[in-house]
This record gives sequence, C-alpha cells and structure tokens, in this order.
Amino acid sequence: MEDLEKLRYSKKNVWQEVEREEIFSFAKGYMDFLNQVKTEREFVAYLQAIVLDRGFKNLAEVDEVRAGEVFYFNNRNKSFFIGRAKSSLSSGFKVIAAHIDSPRLDIKSQPLYEGEGLALFKTHYYGGIKKYQWVTMPLSLIGVVFRKDGSRLDLRIGEKAGDPVFTISDLLPHLAAEQLAKTAGKVVEGEKLNLIVGSIPGAKVKDEVKAGAVNEGKESKESTIKDEILKYLNREFGLLEEDFLRAELEVVPNFKAVDIGFDRGLIGAYGQDDRICAYCALEAFLASDAGADNLLMAFFDKEEIGSNGDTGAQSRVLEYLLDLLAEKRGEQVSPLRVLYNSKGISADVNGVDDPSFDGIFDKLNRGQLGFGPVVSKYTGSRGKYDSSDASAEYLASLLEVFDQDGIVYQFGELGKVDLGGGGTIASYLAQLGMEIVDVGTGLLSMHSPFELASKGDLYMTYRLYVSFLKG
Ligand code: MN
Ligand code: MN
Repeated sequence: MEDLEKLRYSKKNVWQEVEREEIFSFAKGYMDFLNQVKTEREFVAYLQAIVLDRGFKNLAEVDEVRAGEVFYFNNRNKSFFIGRAKSSLSSGFKVIAAHIDSPRLDIKSQPLYEGEGLALFKTHYYGGIKKYQWVTMPLSLIGVVFRKDGSRLDLRIGEKAGDPVFTISDLLPHLAAEQLAKTAGKVVEGEKLNLIVGSIPGAKVKDEVKAGAVNEGKESKESTIKDEILKYLNREFGLLEEDFLRAELEVVPNFKAVDIGFDRGLIGAYGQDDRICAYCALEAFLASDAGADNLLMAFFDKEEIGSNGDTGAQSRVLEYLLDLLAEKRGEQVSPLRVLYNSKGISADVNGVDDPSFDGIFDKLNRGQLGFGPVVSKYTGSRGKYDSSDASAEYLASLLEVFDQDGIVYQFGELGKVDLGGGGTIASYLAQLGMEIVDVGTGLLSMHSPFELASKGDLYMTYRLYVSFLKG
C-alpha cells in the first residue's frame, strides 16, 4: 500500500514548526522599527544610520570597493541599496527587492484654508486606498519642507508623547442617509479628505483699534484661524505659506504597532505593506555571511503609485548603480550582463484569506495567515496580464534550498482569477533580464490604516530570505 502522506502535499503552520519565543523575539524588534519608521524618507534615514554605523562604503563617494566589502547607494533619500560583492560582478547577484513607500495621504502644494471654524490642509491620497477608512482617527504629519532661504525643515508631528495630532472628520449617522446611499468608493471622496489643523481665531480687536484711533487711521482686522496657523508655523518653524510649494508632507496613522488577540499572535500596524518584507530583507542581509555570493538589497520608493519616478523600480537607477560599482571594482562589465545573471526575490506582501469575507480566494491557491510567506509564481490580473510569471526552473532551484533549510512557505494567488489582482516590482526587474519571483508576508486588511500580519509569517519571511541569500 502506498504511503498517502508522501503522495499528498499539504502546507505547514509556522506556529507548529518553530518555538514561540523565537518568533516573539523577532517580532519585538520589528514592532520597534515600525514605530520609528513610517515613511520612505524615514526608512532611508534608518538605513543610512545602519550603514554609517557599520562602515558600509558609499558607492557615490569612494574610489574603490574591494571584494567582500559592504557598500550602499542612497538614491535621493527615497530609495536605497546595500550590497556586498565577493566574486566578479558578471556572475550576477542575489537580489531581494522590496518597497518602502506605503499608501497614505499627501499634503497638497497649497494646502491651508479655513471654513466653519476650522483651519484645514487639503490632501491628495497616495496609492490604492479605501478613502472611507482614513476618516475619524488620529493622524500624524511627517515630512520635509524647504524654506525660501534654502534651509531644510524635517517635521514629525504626532508621534511623540504630548504632540498634537490631526484628523479628518466624517458626517454624523443622523444626517448621513444620502451619504450612506452612495457606493463605498464615493462615501468619502478625495476632496473631502481634508486634515483638521486648527480651530482658534485671533484675539478680539478692541473697537477703538478697529476704528483706527490707535493705529494711525488704518482699520485693524481680526486675525482668522488660518492667520493664526500661519503665525504658529512661522513662530515655531520659520515657515511662510509659500514654503508648502517646496514640501513633501505625508499624513499617516498615528497609532503604534500593537499585539492583536489574546494569544498575541498578530501584529496590527500601519504600513506593513511593504515595510514587513523590507525589514526582513534588511535583517537577512545583516545576518548574512561574508562568504556568501554577491548580494544586493534594493529598497524602492513609489511602488504604490506604479513604480514611476526617479526613485521607483521603473527608473534605471539599478543599472546606474551597477555601472558605478563596476567602476569602483575595476571591472569592465555591462550592468545588463550582471542583471541577466542575477536571481531575485520580489519581497512584497500578499493578500490572505479572510474568514469574514468568504468567496474571494480560490481555496486551493490562497495564502492563509500562519502558513509562512506566500510564494506567488505570478501576479497580474485577468489572465496573468502584466505578470512576469517565474519559470518552473527557477522555482525548482529555490524550493530545493528552502526545503533543505526547513522553511515553511505557501503558494498563493491574490484572489480568484476574475476578481482583480495586482502587480509588484517583479516585472520591472524581470524586464532587466533577471530571474525573479514574488515571495512575501501575507497581510489582512492590506492598504488599510491598520494592517494585520502574523508574527509567525513575519519570522518565517526573514528565515526564507536568509535561506535565499545563503543558498
Ligand atoms: Mn506592496
Ligand atoms: Mn501595496
């Protein structure tokens, strides 16, 4: 009689394969990180501190990078690359590529106005969000402003104890009959995502001052709520209203990363797409052996809006970086040859099945919380459109190593075939000739202000990336 257990394939649950303490201790470091880093610029600053501390060589500055030396490239403070090349560049790299931007609200270039007793900032949402999820909760304001004199101001308001926070209002249910009859996409429209930033008008001007008795004949006006906010911004930060023209300010959920559930098995936090995979990739690289192959970790910006721009994965900065590296290594090799011989993991999150929303996933081919990082042979939508679709050959080579290392992984597709889908940066790296497949942590409530991940999946994502870099 056949051994049916051998014939059958069934996936494993991380919690039943790994010691709970190991998982929880890794999760703690990740949650601390999440509370420090909420935007792509903050992620780059976090990486910059690590590479300075550990003596990585700045590719843009040094004359030479020797074999086995760690190097980095900071691309305009919004995307970042770290690596180490032991052997000739033409043999290629093992690449893990993640993105460090997350869905959020951006402040518009001319944001400040006043209405109905409030001062507000206009916002423009960034990435695919359900707009109705972003109202009635505390929000922080994080980013950079350049004053007219060229000086730079970094703002991070709402994250420190005692800081004020900001919020967006919603209509009371008593008066929401019309609103609630709208489709969910229109319940809260983009131009209604206005951030409340103030509510106190200037002090009352006395009648004799108004009449010009004291003020040399000129009538004095009371200062509006908007004026008071402008005065505050100038007093506190030296800002003028026109300085918003030179700003990138992001509105992000204010709350901290927390344990979810009696058993504390899940993490609830903002921006786990894709900081969870980026963090695991970084930690895996830092844990990698100096004797490992050529390694390159890419942390891209702009994935949530299509990977465009000079810091997104569609820019050719990877080729530029490899050209620079070849020069510093004294090697004559075209970046395209290096990329063609490289093997990649596109480290991005995936959707997992949700018991409260049945029928969205194909039960045979869906990710589930707790069963390890999700491997997606292909992404895309409506007939794999726009997917790079990893080859069976490449999957075979990866799974051999993962199985040897006891990695718990699962294969999954993002939802039923005709329901929708999505893309990742995998296809942009595949365009450069690289073999690549998507492997990342599964999330519930993806792109919401409060995304959920399993601590078991987090830990196993890290372990899988370690296995990939070593194997
Ligand atoms: Mn993502
Ligand atoms: Mn996303």
